[in-house]
Order: sequence, then C-alpha cells, then structure tokens
Amino acid sequence: MSTDKLTCKQVARILSDGLDAQMPPAERTRLRLHMVVCEACRNVEQQFDLLRRLMRKAGPAERDDIPDDER
Ligand SMILES: [Zn+2]
Repeated sequence: MSTDKLTCKQVARILSDGLDAQMPPAERTRLRLHMVVCEACRNVEQQFDLLRRLMRKAGPAERDDIPDDER
C-alpha cells in the first residue's frame, strides 16, 4: 500500500470487508487518523461495528434456540 492518505471510499471498503482487524499496525493507525478527521467514516464504522456485533450475537445464540424436546 502507498503512504497516501486514505480516501473515504477505501475506508468504507476496508470496513465492509472487515479488513481493519487484519491490518498491520501502521495501516490501522492511518485508518484511525482518517476516522479522527472524518465524521462520515466514523458513522460508517459505527454501523459496521453494530452489524458485526449483531451477527456475532446471532451465531452462538442459535444453540439456545433448539427446543428441549428435540434432544
Ligand atoms: Zn472519510
């Protein structure tokens, strides 16, 4: 990756692909810096954050949905 500033488009793509978790620290710092100055991307991140939390909740919780009489 280049050392150019991230664009909002790049940030949105990183967030939607969940790449921020696998990014090297330097890249993640660049992302954080963009978030500090860009309110639009902060909002985008919050939405993806919420979405990921909801999906994580839906995953393991499925076991509890199995009725007792199915065993
Ligand atoms: Zn932005």
